[in-house]
Amino acid sequence: MTVLGDKLTPLLGKKTATALDEALGIVTVGDLLRHYPRRYAERGELTDIAGLEIGEHATVMARIEKVNKRRMRNKPGWILEMTITDGYRRLECAFFGNAHQRERELQLGKTGLFAGKVTAFRNKLQLANPEYQMLDENNESAMDDFVGAIIPVYPAASGVPSWSIARCVRQVLDTLEREPDPMPAELLKRYGFLELFDALHAIHRPQDQRALEAARERLKWDEAMAIQLIFAQRRFSAVSRPAPACPPKPGGLLEAFDQRLPFELTSGQREVGEHIAGDLSGEHPMNRLLQGEVGSGKTVVALRAMLQVVDAGRQAAMLAPTEVLAAQHARSLREMLGELGQAGELGAAEQATKVTLLTGSMSAKERKQALLDAASGAAGIVVGTHALIQDTVSFADLGFVVVDEQHRFGVEQRDALRTRGANDTSPHVLVMTATPIPRTVAMTVYGDLETSALRVMPVGRSPISTTVVPVAEKPAWLDRVWQRVREEVQKGHQAYVVCPRIGDEPPSDKSDKRPPLAVLDVAAELEAGPLAGLRIGVLHGRLPTDEKDAVMRAFAAGKLDVLVATTVIEVGVNVPNATAMVIMDADRFGVSQLHQLRGRVGRGSVPGLCLLVTEAIDGTSTRERLAAVESTTDGFELSRLDLELRREGDILGAAQSGKRSSLKLLSLLRDEEIIAEARERAQEVVAEDPSLAKHPGLAHLVASVVDDERAEYLEKT
Ligand code: ADP
Ligand code: MG
Repeated sequence: MTVLGDKLTPLLGKKTATALDEALGIVTVGDLLRHYPRRYAERGELTDIAGLEIGEHATVMARIEKVNKRRMRNKPGWILEMTITDGYRRLECAFFGNAHQRERELQLGKTGLFAGKVTAFRNKLQLANPEYQMLDENNESAMDDFVGAIIPVYPAASGVPSWSIARCVRQVLDTLEREPDPMPAELLKRYGFLELFDALHAIHRPQDQRALEAARERLKWDEAMAIQLIFAQRRFSAVSRPAPACPPKPGGLLEAFDQRLPFELTSGQREVGEHIAGDLSGEHPMNRLLQGEVGSGKTVVALRAMLQVVDAGRQAAMLAPTEVLAAQHARSLREMLGELGQAGELGAAEQATKVTLLTGSMSAKERKQALLDAASGAAGIVVGTHALIQDTVSFADLGFVVVDEQHRFGVEQRDALRTRGANDTSPHVLVMTATPIPRTVAMTVYGDLETSALRVMPVGRSPISTTVVPVAEKPAWLDRVWQRVREEVQKGHQAYVVCPRIGDEPPSDKSDKRPPLAVLDVAAELEAGPLAGLRIGVLHGRLPTDEKDAVMRAFAAGKLDVLVATTVIEVGVNVPNATAMVIMDADRFGVSQLHQLRGRVGRGSVPGLCLLVTEAIDGTSTRERLAAVESTTDGFELSRLDLELRREGDILGAAQSGKRSSLKLLSLLRDEEIIAEARERAQEVVAEDPSLAKHPGLAHLVASVVDDERAEYLEKT
């Protein structure tokens, strides 16, 4: 009999086991049985070809529409060309070798499973040299591997097609032993779950849809529970630490600041402000995520919170992802504070504090002074990059850390903050992100944070219209793009051109794919051709700081018409006169990044224009993502669409530690209820048994669902 912890080699043989390990990292029986089908094909139902990803290894159930055998042009031998279809779209396939035998197997009108790497050739989707399994009544071995009418389609890899995995799974399931269930009996009973043993059988070899649903429900719970247990443990250990309490001070800086504020706070800013003020007053650290699109007024909220902390006699630090942004933050904080931020200077208000910028590229003298300000407590607010926390900068009494742009600031960095307060306290933390996140994602990816959102913009922004420019199908549109840029410039406006790459890197030796377009190349081409005569500037992260500043200032002052840049302009840059943005190779950017980028235009009174130039082919998931960006400018709606289009597992992995994730069945979009419910149950379990010592099954579940490295890391905290 077999148990989940057994190795596969003795069961399946060395050759098969090695192939599974190498292609998919599957080593044990448990790994294999937790390698769930990606989807199920109903016998006789074809797979939707739209949404395939270029470069992915895909398995599709399709019908053979055309077969053609011909002699190869340059060498002896035959080539078999075939077109398969889902009834709407087509995939081109080509086989080299064995053409005669294949011709017998691959008959016109027949249906089968086809697996291979999706590529694009002459703007058509291709599956080159696919592996296949025809599904006809005569193919008995194929029929054996699939019980009923429901055929599992596994995430597969070249050399390990879906149907081979199905065969291995069958073999393992036949000898699987029923072990004690990791889920506590009371939970099994309360929710009426299938036992793990039965769920594993049903997910791989479903008799019918109902059995499949019950299995999925149970296995989703395993995933939700494992993740929420980890977060519950993290929250437990975070809030059990002492924090520097910072209750508001009547007649302090914050009150003075509020009196001078040239505008009314929005209701959202007031409400979030009150939550934060309450948290900061407490004896345990705040861990809060503040979401709000660019321009929604997060900085004001953060500044008000920092002032409460300064009023309590402590310091606040604000971290930005880059030095340019840190400098910008320091400038705008000083501006907003006016004389309230000029401590030590002439004309400062009586209770004024000092905003100190501390970055690596400052002169030794400036840096020394800044370090002194931080260590002596002279600086109430210290602004810098993340290095501020990782380095050995010392603070007199750090009470509060604001982190701008969450997506570059992971769990590990947050943990580095834990002991930075005076007397080994944990400072309060406010993480701000301009990328709205659906509730379930927040609960899952940022499950250790409380969340707040600013949903209403304080001041009316101009609309931005976005258009995808598909140069693969419509090459002539590119000329029109540059013409539009010229028109904007003629009207006295300015434009950004964004490229994925700088262009000063050594050429890579992998030459099968065109490298992404580069700032330096594109700028030179535009200058020599389509935008000749315009004043073009170049901005990227590897320019020296003073040059960067000079370019930004020139653009802000209207001395440049067009700025060709990398994503350094993504956050913080504010030039209301810039009305157009062209994003080259737009498919190389993520949805939220594109959304963030286009937020740079439409900041003035004139509507903004964003053109997404791409060579991606129609019908790919890449194009669907761009279409989503085109379809809405509502950040929350877009984040939902993005979630629908993404391989969900990637979200957790990327956001947390850059590792592949363990979410296989749980959908952050559709399983909100499960996630919320599991969060409560996990909270209860951890409150009573923080280390899970009394719940070995759950501890094991956490370990099996979460990859080793992360689990290890989480244990350390
Ligand atoms: P974010 O940090 O979310 O991108 P900011 O806090 O920088 O947004 O605010 C964007 C702009 O809106 C700033 O110029 C700010 O002064 C202004 N602003 C913020 N809150 C309000 C408000 N309640 N009413 C009017 N203007 C506001
Ligand atoms: Mg901001």
